[in-house]
Amino acid sequence: AYSAVGLHLDPERITGVLLDLAGGVRMRSRRRVPDDASPEAVGAALARTCHQLVRRSGIADDRVLGVGLAVPGPLDAANRRVLAPPNLTGWAEVPLADIVEQRAGQPVVMDNDATAAAIGERWAGRADRAGSFVYVYLGSGVGIGVVLGDQVHRGVSNNAGEIGHVHSGGGRECHCGRKGCLEAYCSMRAIVADWRAATREEPNGEPVAATYERLCRSAADGDATATRVLRVAATRLGQALASVVSVLDVDRVVLGGPALRHVADLVRARVAKVVDAQVWAPKVRPVRVETALIGDDAGAVGAASLVLDHAYSPR
Ligand code: BGC
Ligand code: ZN
Repeated sequence: AYSAVGLHLDPERITGVLLDLAGGVRMRSRRRVPDDASPEAVGAALARTCHQLVRRSGIADDRVLGVGLAVPGPLDAANRRVLAPPNLTGWAEVPLADIVEQRAGQPVVMDNDATAAAIGERWAGRADRAGSFVYVYLGSGVGIGVVLGDQVHRGVSNNAGEIGHVHSGGGRECHCGRKGCLEAYCSMRAIVADWRAATREEPNGEPVAATYERLCRSAADGDATATRVLRVAATRLGQALASVVSVLDVDRVVLGGPALRHVADLVRARVAKVVDAQVWAPKVRPVRVETALIGDDAGAVGAASLVLDHAYSPR
């Protein structure tokens, strides 16, 4: 049977899935991003994930329709490049789709990670995710995928949804080089820095993701400082999302991504409260803030479904 591969590159890890033509996940695989996170090493790790999925599922190479690749932006889609994503340190303009295509020996289509995750979520939710919604990807970075009237909205340059680098009313330096970006307050790294400041804990060489996990477990266990730090970040996120909802007139916000692990309810509750308080015209358009239906596979599933879309649409 024919299949499609989806690969999701998050700065922390690579998730891969193999989808059958009905859209069912037949196989999944997860690995850490190599410590040497150079484009070549990451490209090789992505291709390895693809090979592994195909080998383990026992299907022939020529039964693979292609590979969908979900990556943090910004993107130069016309040239199949990623443009110095702030969360992939040291990357300049990288022709990642071509690198993976060569190494995997399969045609590659590339999309923004949050957009792909929105597509994966829509696929998983079917009727429940019809209509219009924004999907918020919370990870090392913050980005949104936009679905309007059942259609994915990518914008003129495929860079719609870059909310992480929208000014959020502050002066904090963002790792993208600007000041005041939402991501400078709401990324895992930013929240970890706030927590360290609040607890006066010295940086101890622990990776950001591990400290963040500790923070979230503490919050889930009721620790007041951890809870407050997360709530402050969620408030800012909610403010930004209230603006998005008011501008786009969507009635649903879906929160997903690895930063929600252990704290999805806490963050959702706060975001919902802020959105409810700040959104325009809530009477005629009540807004639901929900957590994602599929978790860690959303980006990879959405990416694989791009391949199926390609295969079915006339060229
Ligand atoms: C990038 C977005 C991405 C988001 C989540 C941001 O830093 O600019 O393109 O969607 O991180 O990974
Ligand atoms: Zn920024």
